Amino acid sequence: MLSALDRQGMFVVPGDKVGVIEEFLSGPGTYVEDGEIRAANVGFLLLNLSARKVSVFRPTRLKGAACVPRPGSVVIGEVSETHQTYLLMRIWIVGPKHLSGFFTGLLHISNVGLRVRNMFNVARPGDIVRARVVSVKNRICHLSLADRRLGAIYAFCSNCGELLKARKDKKLICEACGSLELRKLASDYGETAL
Ligand SMILES: [Zn+2]
Repeated sequence: MLSALDRQGMFVVPGDKVGVIEEFLSGPGTYVEDGEIRAANVGFLLLNLSARKVSVFRPTRLKGAACVPRPGSVVIGEVSETHQTYLLMRIWIVGPKHLSGFFTGLLHISNVGLRVRNMFNVARPGDIVRARVVSVKNRICHLSLADRRLGAIYAFCSNCGELLKARKDKKLICEACGSLELRKLASDYGETAL
Protein backbone atom coordinates (compact mmCIF):
# COMPACT_ATOMS: atom_id res chain seq x y z
CA MET A 1 0.00 0.00 0.00
CA LEU A 2 1.13 3.56 -0.77
CA SER A 3 2.27 5.85 2.04
CA ALA A 4 -0.33 8.15 3.59
CA LEU A 5 1.18 11.12 1.76
CA ASP A 6 0.91 9.40 -1.61
CA ARG A 7 -2.74 8.54 -0.96
CA GLN A 8 -3.80 12.09 -0.05
CA GLY A 9 -6.39 13.38 -2.52
CA MET A 10 -6.50 10.08 -4.39
CA PHE A 11 -9.68 9.32 -6.30
CA VAL A 12 -11.40 6.20 -4.96
CA VAL A 13 -14.42 4.08 -5.78
CA PRO A 14 -16.62 2.06 -3.37
CA GLY A 15 -14.73 -0.86 -1.83
CA ASP A 16 -11.25 0.59 -2.38
CA LYS A 17 -8.98 0.03 0.61
CA VAL A 18 -8.12 3.45 2.03
CA GLY A 19 -6.41 2.49 5.27
CA VAL A 20 -6.17 0.07 8.17
CA ILE A 21 -7.62 0.55 11.65
CA GLU A 22 -4.17 0.38 13.27
CA GLU A 23 -3.26 3.47 11.26
CA PHE A 24 -6.44 5.54 10.96
CA LEU A 25 -9.93 6.14 12.31
CA SER A 26 -12.76 5.57 9.87
CA GLY A 27 -14.28 8.97 8.93
CA PRO A 28 -17.24 10.04 6.77
CA GLY A 29 -17.58 8.13 3.50
CA THR A 30 -15.71 5.05 4.75
CA TYR A 31 -16.52 1.77 6.48
CA VAL A 32 -14.51 -0.87 8.29
CA GLU A 33 -14.39 -4.51 7.24
CA ASP A 34 -11.99 -7.07 8.72
CA GLY A 35 -9.74 -4.35 10.11
CA GLU A 36 -9.48 -2.55 6.79
CA ILE A 37 -10.99 0.85 6.07
CA ARG A 38 -12.72 1.02 2.68
CA ALA A 39 -14.38 3.74 0.62
CA ALA A 40 -18.20 3.73 0.88
CA ASN A 41 -18.65 5.98 -2.14
CA VAL A 42 -16.93 7.61 -5.08
CA GLY A 43 -14.82 10.58 -4.11
CA PHE A 44 -11.37 11.66 -3.08
CA LEU A 45 -9.43 10.86 0.04
CA LEU A 46 -8.79 13.35 2.76
CA LEU A 47 -6.31 12.14 5.34
CA ASN A 48 -6.28 14.20 8.49
CA LEU A 49 -2.87 13.21 9.78
CA SER A 50 -3.11 14.98 13.12
CA ALA A 51 -6.49 13.40 13.99
CA ARG A 52 -5.45 10.15 12.22
CA LYS A 53 -8.78 10.10 10.41
CA VAL A 54 -9.48 9.10 6.82
CA SER A 55 -12.56 10.40 4.96
CA VAL A 56 -13.90 10.13 1.43
CA PHE A 57 -15.45 13.32 0.03
CA ARG A 58 -18.45 12.37 -2.03
CA PRO A 59 -19.16 14.25 -5.23
CA THR A 60 -22.59 15.84 -4.71
CA ARG A 61 -23.62 15.98 -8.34
CA LEU A 62 -23.04 12.39 -9.29
CA LYS A 63 -24.66 11.60 -12.62
CA GLY A 64 -24.31 8.37 -14.50
CA ALA A 65 -24.36 9.55 -18.10
CA ALA A 66 -21.19 9.09 -20.11
CA CYS A 67 -19.59 12.31 -21.19
CA VAL A 68 -16.55 13.24 -23.24
CA PRO A 69 -14.45 16.36 -22.71
CA ARG A 70 -14.40 18.69 -25.71
CA PRO A 71 -12.55 21.92 -26.47
CA GLY A 72 -14.08 24.54 -24.18
CA SER A 73 -15.21 22.02 -21.53
CA VAL A 74 -14.41 22.94 -17.96
CA VAL A 75 -13.02 19.87 -16.20
CA ILE A 76 -11.93 18.89 -12.70
CA GLY A 77 -9.29 16.33 -11.93
CA GLU A 78 -6.50 15.24 -9.66
CA VAL A 79 -2.89 16.02 -10.49
CA SER A 80 -0.99 12.76 -10.93
CA GLU A 81 2.46 14.06 -11.94
CA THR A 82 4.17 17.43 -11.84
CA HIS A 83 7.28 18.13 -13.92
CA GLN A 84 9.28 21.31 -14.50
CA THR A 85 7.31 22.44 -17.58
CA TYR A 86 4.09 20.41 -17.53
CA LEU A 87 1.77 18.40 -15.34
CA LEU A 88 -0.59 15.49 -15.86
CA MET A 89 -4.10 15.15 -14.42
CA ARG A 90 -6.69 12.42 -14.11
CA ILE A 91 -9.91 14.10 -15.20
CA TRP A 92 -13.07 12.74 -13.61
CA ILE A 93 -15.54 15.63 -13.84
CA VAL A 94 -16.54 17.29 -17.10
CA GLY A 95 -18.87 20.26 -16.63
CA PRO A 96 -21.39 19.02 -14.04
CA LYS A 97 -20.93 15.35 -14.91
CA HIS A 98 -18.83 12.69 -13.29
CA LEU A 99 -17.13 10.29 -15.65
CA SER A 100 -17.26 6.54 -15.23
CA GLY A 101 -13.59 6.36 -16.29
CA PHE A 102 -10.77 8.86 -16.63
CA PHE A 103 -9.31 11.10 -19.24
CA THR A 104 -5.72 12.19 -19.04
CA GLY A 105 -5.17 15.93 -19.02
CA LEU A 106 -1.90 17.63 -19.90
CA LEU A 107 -1.17 21.19 -18.85
CA HIS A 108 1.92 22.87 -20.30
CA ILE A 109 3.58 25.81 -18.56
CA SER A 110 2.69 28.07 -21.53
CA ASN A 111 -1.04 27.54 -20.78
CA VAL A 112 -0.98 28.46 -17.09
CA GLY A 113 -2.02 32.06 -17.84
CA LEU A 114 0.61 33.44 -15.46
CA ARG A 115 4.34 33.67 -15.75
CA VAL A 116 5.68 30.95 -13.47
CA ARG A 117 9.18 29.53 -13.07
CA ASN A 118 8.08 25.91 -12.79
CA MET A 119 4.95 23.82 -12.53
CA PHE A 120 5.54 22.97 -8.87
CA ASN A 121 4.20 26.47 -8.10
CA VAL A 122 1.06 25.71 -10.15
CA ALA A 123 -0.13 22.35 -8.78
CA ARG A 124 1.34 19.21 -7.28
CA PRO A 125 0.31 15.55 -7.20
CA GLY A 126 -2.89 15.05 -5.21
CA ASP A 127 -4.15 18.60 -5.77
CA ILE A 128 -7.63 18.98 -7.24
CA VAL A 129 -7.60 21.37 -10.20
CA ARG A 130 -10.25 23.00 -12.39
CA ALA A 131 -9.10 23.60 -15.99
CA ARG A 132 -10.45 24.30 -19.46
CA VAL A 133 -9.91 21.91 -22.37
CA VAL A 134 -8.09 23.54 -25.29
CA SER A 135 -7.91 20.51 -27.57
CA VAL A 136 -8.25 16.73 -27.43
CA LYS A 137 -5.70 14.56 -29.25
CA ASN A 138 -5.45 10.77 -28.89
CA ARG A 139 -7.73 10.92 -25.80
CA ILE A 140 -5.36 13.37 -24.11
CA CYS A 141 -6.97 16.66 -23.14
CA HIS A 142 -4.68 19.66 -23.52
CA LEU A 143 -5.60 22.09 -20.76
CA SER A 144 -5.46 25.78 -19.91
CA LEU A 145 -5.66 27.62 -16.57
CA ALA A 146 -5.92 31.10 -18.12
CA ASP A 147 -8.93 32.36 -16.17
CA ARG A 148 -9.43 33.46 -12.55
CA ARG A 149 -11.93 30.62 -12.01
CA LEU A 150 -9.31 28.06 -13.11
CA GLY A 151 -6.56 26.57 -10.98
CA ALA A 152 -6.26 24.55 -7.80
CA ILE A 153 -9.53 24.22 -5.88
CA TYR A 154 -7.98 22.01 -3.18
CA ALA A 155 -4.26 21.59 -2.49
CA PHE A 156 -2.41 19.49 0.01
CA CYS A 157 0.77 20.16 2.01
CA SER A 158 3.85 18.68 0.30
CA ASN A 159 5.36 18.15 3.69
CA CYS A 160 2.61 16.49 5.75
CA GLY A 161 -0.39 16.03 3.43
CA GLU A 162 -2.84 18.25 5.30
CA LEU A 163 -5.32 20.39 3.31
CA LEU A 164 -3.77 23.83 2.69
CA LYS A 165 -5.60 27.04 3.62
CA ALA A 166 -5.46 30.17 1.43
CA ARG A 167 -4.24 33.37 3.11
CA LYS A 168 -5.17 36.90 2.07
CA ASP A 169 -1.83 37.26 0.22
CA LYS A 170 -2.78 34.18 -1.88
CA LYS A 171 -0.09 32.02 -0.34
CA LEU A 172 -1.19 28.69 1.07
CA ILE A 173 -0.44 27.74 4.61
CA CYS A 174 -0.47 24.34 6.28
CA GLU A 175 -1.99 24.78 9.71
CA ALA A 176 -0.55 21.43 10.79
CA CYS A 177 3.17 22.02 10.06
CA GLY A 178 3.39 25.74 9.18
CA SER A 179 4.69 25.15 5.66
CA LEU A 180 3.99 27.93 3.10
CA GLU A 181 3.35 26.93 -0.49
CA LEU A 182 2.37 28.46 -3.82
CA ARG A 183 -0.19 27.30 -6.35
CA LYS A 184 -2.15 28.84 -9.20
CA LEU A 185 -5.38 29.20 -7.25
CA ALA A 186 -8.92 29.22 -8.58
CA SER A 187 -10.84 32.27 -7.28
CA ASP A 188 -13.06 29.94 -5.21
CA TYR A 189 -10.20 27.90 -3.73
CA GLY A 190 -11.38 25.65 -0.89
CA GLU A 191 -15.08 26.42 -1.40
CA THR A 192 -16.16 24.01 -4.15
CA ALA A 193 -18.45 21.12 -3.34
CA LEU A 194 -17.35 18.27 -5.57
ZN1 LIG B 1 1.97 20.44 6.46
